[in-house]
Amino acid sequence: MQLISPEIIFRGDDAWKKALPQIYKLIRSPLVLGRSIHTSNLRERISNDLKNKNLNVSSANLLFDCCHEDILRVKDIILKNNHDSIIAAGGGKVLDAGKYIAECLDIPCITVPLSASTCAGWTALSNIYTKNGQFIKDVPLSSCPKILVYDHKFIQTAPLRTLASGIADALAKWYESSITSSTIDDGLVQQAIQISRVLRDQLLIEGEQAFKGQFENNPSWRNIIEACGLTAGLVGGIGGEKCRTAAAHAIHNAITQIIAPNKFLHGEIVGVGLLLQLRLEEMKNNNKLADQSIKQLLVLMKQLDLPTTISELGINVFENKNLEIIADFTCRDKSEIHFLPFETSKQDIIEVIANFEQQKIKI
Ligand SMILES: [Zn+2]
Repeated sequence: MQLISPEIIFRGDDAWKKALPQIYKLIRSPLVLGRSIHTSNLRERISNDLKNKNLNVSSANLLFDCCHEDILRVKDIILKNNHDSIIAAGGGKVLDAGKYIAECLDIPCITVPLSASTCAGWTALSNIYTKNGQFIKDVPLSSCPKILVYDHKFIQTAPLRTLASGIADALAKWYESSITSSTIDDGLVQQAIQISRVLRDQLLIEGEQAFKGQFENNPSWRNIIEACGLTAGLVGGIGGEKCRTAAAHAIHNAITQIIAPNKFLHGEIVGVGLLLQLRLEEMKNNNKLADQSIKQLLVLMKQLDLPTTISELGINVFENKNLEIIADFTCRDKSEIHFLPFETSKQDIIEVIANFEQQKIKI
């Protein structure tokens, strides 16, 4: 079974308005799920638009993350109120929680991403974390969302940091899928990898313009938010499970095991993981182009104010056995690190990270 895309996608400036008639047709009693205080006005508008059409709407917020505690609590609310659907409106954690809960209760999920930080509005996958934000596992779902509403005006209201984070996460698609899957003899997988290459090129060419320019009359901003929220999801849909993540996400998952004073966004951590993956490829796979790629990525990452080392994520790897904790989790049995076409040991990860953190990164 291949889960390529949401059933219906609305995109553009008035996507939410255009989606409404379709939504009324499909559901009668949705729960609107969110989290951040910054998005409460938008979620209120979403609820009011639905109430005006006599839908029975209530709302709930995640208190922590896409974690079992929140999932159980929200499930209970849905069962008590007899809701027939979930409208998940927010960032990646909210979208993942909405999709996962909808799957458990066998009701449809409508995703309304409120930033460009993620392609979670598109995919049939949820990442589960602890309530402190430590990655536990990713869960493949049996369908993509029923409707995806990618409203540009909603996304304009998100903090700029979320766009930078989405760019870093989408960049990883090429570097991870090309190394894990380019030898797979399957046309769709090959085409998905090629889309991820074009996606990377567009992010490298237009990423800075999208980040620095105004929203109005900035075609780069439109191109890049859609690259992060839609195209990155399409790559996963066409490539399927064979078009895999690799070291960048494995290292992300490991870094989340250490609770840092400030929380960083998924893509901000994946960006650091991506630089480390390239160093690993250079060391273990004799990839002569890796250093060039690192330099190229660093230029963009600095322009986007993205962190480029683990210490910039507020973690000193040389304290509290942090380096061992990261290496252990990166190399655990079910880790994506094992999709790399070469063996990687804990010692390799320790060496790569220690060297990386000790160097002063210069462009
Ligand atoms: Zn990701």
